[in-house]
Parts: sequence; structure tokens; C-alpha cells
Amino acid sequence: MEVKNIQQFVEGFQRFQQKYFAGEQPLYDKLSNGQNPSTLLIGCCDSRVDPALLLDCDPGDIFVIRNVANLVPPCSDSDSESGHLHGVSAAIQFAVEALNVERIIVMGHEKCGGIRALMQGYTSSGPLDFVERWMRIVEPVKQQVLYQLASCSVETQNHACELGAIIMSLNNLRSFPWVAERERAGKLALHGWYFDMTNGALLAYSDRTDTFLPMVCPLGISHSERLAKLV
Ligand SMILES: [Zn+2]
Repeated sequence: MEVKNIQQFVEGFQRFQQKYFAGEQPLYDKLSNGQNPSTLLIGCCDSRVDPALLLDCDPGDIFVIRNVANLVPPCSDSDSESGHLHGVSAAIQFAVEALNVERIIVMGHEKCGGIRALMQGYTSSGPLDFVERWMRIVEPVKQQVLYQLASCSVETQNHACELGAIIMSLNNLRSFPWVAERERAGKLALHGWYFDMTNGALLAYSDRTDTFLPMVCPLGISHSERLAKLV
């Protein structure tokens, strides 16, 4: 459904009302007393990759942070010097310390505009270029990709940068002391996922192999075919 006017949002809310507020034991009776999500998901702002839609979640299931290119900045207390405001860090802290989430998923995706802006440049409309500034978080990944995959196509380089940015964000998560402590204690698990938009598949980062492996195959590909491909 392509949304062309605001009435479609109003009708969408009415369908939401029917689904979640109708019935004998509506979910919102429980949720009105507070939230208790098990998972913090950090995703991209991109309109094609809504985490609740992709993972078929109900309200209350996932605590979501969305930003350009699903990045996690490193832990920093330099706001007095730089004037930076730490919206992403604040939301991570709230999810970990106040909500006690059990896991954090950084979910990247194919054809990410933020990564493309980093790799191929972005023409801003004025002197305030927030996209360029924000994407500097993963500048080291860009440099590594350009060095190691110098002769590859732009698509291959962008894809590698999308994956590398997820790994860098996982490492940046560990620079927050309350994340690192909980992970060490086995109370918090970190995951890197990647939505392959072309094939409709989901990949997951494996620490053990340092690669992204298929977690949900494209429709029509069986588990045995998947294993054959991997071998
Ligand atoms: Zn994106």
C-alpha cells in the first residue's frame, strides 16, 4: 500500500485500534502499566526497514532506536567541549540500565543511503552537514573497505561497508561500561543482523567465524540448499 494522503494514516490508526484495543484481554491493559521489552534494537531510519514490521513484533516487544545507518557512537563524555548531544547513548543507557534488556540487536540493511553517502559523498543543501558529521563514526570502516576492496565495484564496497559498520557498532556498544559489564556477566547478549533486501533474507554476524551467516533464507530456498551453498 502506497500512502498518498494523510487519511490513510488515520485509517491505519483505526485498524491498529481494532487489533490492539478490541478483544477480551487487550494487550494494552498490560502495557498501560509499563513496558518490559526483552530487546533493544538499533535500526536505520530508512522507510523500508521498519524493525517491528520486519520482525512481526507487537507493541511492547522491542525498544527501538533508529538513526541514519543504524550506528552506535563510541562512549564519550566530551559534550562540554564539543557541544554534542548524546541522544543515541541516552537511549542505549535507558534500555540497558532502566529496562534491563537481555539483548541488543544492531540491524543493518542492504542499499543503505547513509552508507552510500559515506562511501560516495553527499551533497548537503548548506553549511550544516549533519549527515556527513554523523557518518564519520564509521570513517575507519570506509578506509578499510577502500583499501582492501580497491578494485571491487561500488556495490560490493558499499555492501562490505554496511556489514563492517554493524561490527563497528557492536564494538562501540562495548565501550559503554554498563554494556561491557553486563555482557561479561552473561546478562546481556549483543547481535549483529543484516537485512538482505534484494533476496528477502536475514543474516547474522558470527563472532566465531567473523562473517555474516544466513539466519533466515530467501523464500524458496530450503535448509539443505542453504547448507550446500555454505559448503
Ligand atoms: Zn540505512
